[in-house]
Amino acid sequence: MRVIKTITQLRKELDKARAQGQKIGFVPTMGYFHEGHLSLMRRAKKECDICVVSIYVNPKQFGPKEDLRTYPRDIKRDRAMIRKENVDILFIPSDNVVYPNRYLTYIDVEKISNTLCGKYRPGHFKGVATVVAKLLNMVAPDVMYLGQKDAQQVAVLSKMVADLDFPVNIRVVLTAREKDGLAMSSRNIFLTPQERAQAPVLYRALKYAVGRIQAGERSAPKIISTIRKIITQQSSGRIQYVACVDAGTLEPVGVLKHRVLIALAVFFNRTRLIDNVIVPIKSARKI
Ligand code: AMP
Repeated sequence: MRVIKTITQLRKELDKARAQGQKIGFVPTMGYFHEGHLSLMRRAKKECDICVVSIYVNPKQFGPKEDLRTYPRDIKRDRAMIRKENVDILFIPSDNVVYPNRYLTYIDVEKISNTLCGKYRPGHFKGVATVVAKLLNMVAPDVMYLGQKDAQQVAVLSKMVADLDFPVNIRVVLTAREKDGLAMSSRNIFLTPQERAQAPVLYRALKYAVGRIQAGERSAPKIISTIRKIITQQSSGRIQYVACVDAGTLEPVGVLKHRVLIALAVFFNRTRLIDNVIVPIKSARKI
């Protein structure tokens, strides 16, 4: 594995690979790896010749009151964790490399950046879209791998890639979970033992909702209130939002139809956890 810190060096390495006809897979991350990140890398390695992983904690996607300063970082640990994953290039640019002096250009994927998490994290997806556009220009991969865990990020980046004609395919990898169902996240280390014990309630509530839908429930407000009730009754989590939206457009739905994304964000003290499921809705059988 080569560790690269500059764009020039990165392009030099990747130009060589491209000249040999090698397919490049790219996994953008903020580091502090867990099995979710590794599953993206394994998929990239399986489907491409070269796997490039970036670690960059992007200041532009954190709000002024968010956890940029305390976001977990440990490059040594990350390097050790991926030693067995056959990653070819680990790209670790510094702030100066990504945002040189007098940086002025931003990408705003309108509308879908401002619902769900975006409603509570103004500017977050503008920061995400901007940094990923830049990383795509630096790496120029054939395929970019993203996790379903961040469903809105997938929607925003897919729209950006389509709207701006980035020549890259996006593959979405299922959410990796702990044995008790908690979605893996770099932020899980901030949970106290009691909060960690309660946190699986998020996925339990989502799964219960899926069961209700499979049993015929089609009312979004009912599904939302069921989920809220389970989380409130079974944990100390403070709900930021629970929403049922169309999985493609992220528009809220009243009656569940087509493919629905049920997404939520819940605070355990200061730790904000997100999770989601996508539910294909069977239409009523015609008699
Ligand atoms: P992050 O380092 O949190 O920015 O995540 C980097 C990539 O890993 C993003 O595409 C995330 O959606 C993905 N990811 C994070 N957690 C998980 C998970 N539990 N399962 C699958 N992918 C994940």
